[in-house]
Amino acid sequence: MNILITGGAGFIGSHLVDKFISRKYNVIAIDNLLTGTKKNLDPFLKNKNFTFLNLDVQNHIEISQDLDYVLHLASAASPKAYTQHPINTLKAGSIGTINTLGLAKAKNAKYLLTSTSEVYGDPQISPQPETYWGNVNPNGVRSMYDEAKRFAEAAVASYNRIYNLDTRIVRLFNTYGPNMKINDGRVVTNFISQAISNQDITIYGKGDQTRSFCYVDDTVSGIIKAMESNSSEVFNIGNPNEITILQLAEEIISLTNSNSSIKFVDLPEDDPMQRNPDITKANEKLNWFPEVLLKDGLMKTISWVEKSMN
Ligand code: UDP
Repeated sequence: MNILITGGAGFIGSHLVDKFISRKYNVIAIDNLLTGTKKNLDPFLKNKNFTFLNLDVQNHIEISQDLDYVLHLASAASPKAYTQHPINTLKAGSIGTINTLGLAKAKNAKYLLTSTSEVYGDPQISPQPETYWGNVNPNGVRSMYDEAKRFAEAAVASYNRIYNLDTRIVRLFNTYGPNMKINDGRVVTNFISQAISNQDITIYGKGDQTRSFCYVDDTVSGIIKAMESNSSEVFNIGNPNEITILQLAEEIISLTNSNSSIKFVDLPEDDPMQRNPDITKANEKLNWFPEVLLKDGLMKTISWVEKSMN
């Protein structure tokens, strides 16, 4: 099997590379390293089945060999990163999606887009099923990401309808684990790095907003099941265990035996109040369900952050 992964040097991309390489597939990882980290690919650089291409999906992509799967993950994905790189985020989701769809069409490859729970915006129903169309601010401070991914979904749906391209879309909810970028501003890495250095834990707002955190191994197994399935559909991939940000802070303080205090600061604009995936569809059609408990996943992530900060 020949697999192409865009965003292969990123957090989730590098775990997918790992899984496919361990199955002895040939893997090509594309990344422009804007938010991806080359170090995430160090374990594979000497493997004869692995190729890294420092390319930007905004440009036409020319690959000589046949491809069986194209997985398009390339995008800034944390609120801090996409706010810093808004135009790039728009282009990765729009032009990058069109370019990778064109590549999959030319190679007659199966295609997967990683979309996001952000397409639901600040949802007015909870949990969110795939049939919910969302509550999104089209020009707000998160719109470069939300709308780029909504465009990307429309592009995938059109290539599927018009060209019969074998596509699927996974909407990823908050994912955490090793290889996350530590200074990316995300809540799990912020809280862990603050807790282990006994600095104040910065809660944005009152901490009553909720998220549902999925350990990366579970997210990756969901992506692979969707890739392998024959359903050209949209699947939520996330962990339905919903907690408040205050509860997350308390859990991380306790797991790290930290002396940190909690400091409440301003809530960023358009920060969604709740996020909880309805994963009935992935469970029924992909036979997928997340297995890693938050406490276990956090312990693994804490060990990894400790090692990376040393
Ligand atoms: N958050 C926080 N403190 C931080 C970083 C984030 O309270 O140091 C909050 C943020 O306001 C949001 C939630 O944690 O409500 C998750 O933020 P993150 O940036 O990880 O991802 P999001 O789910 O918003 O895309």
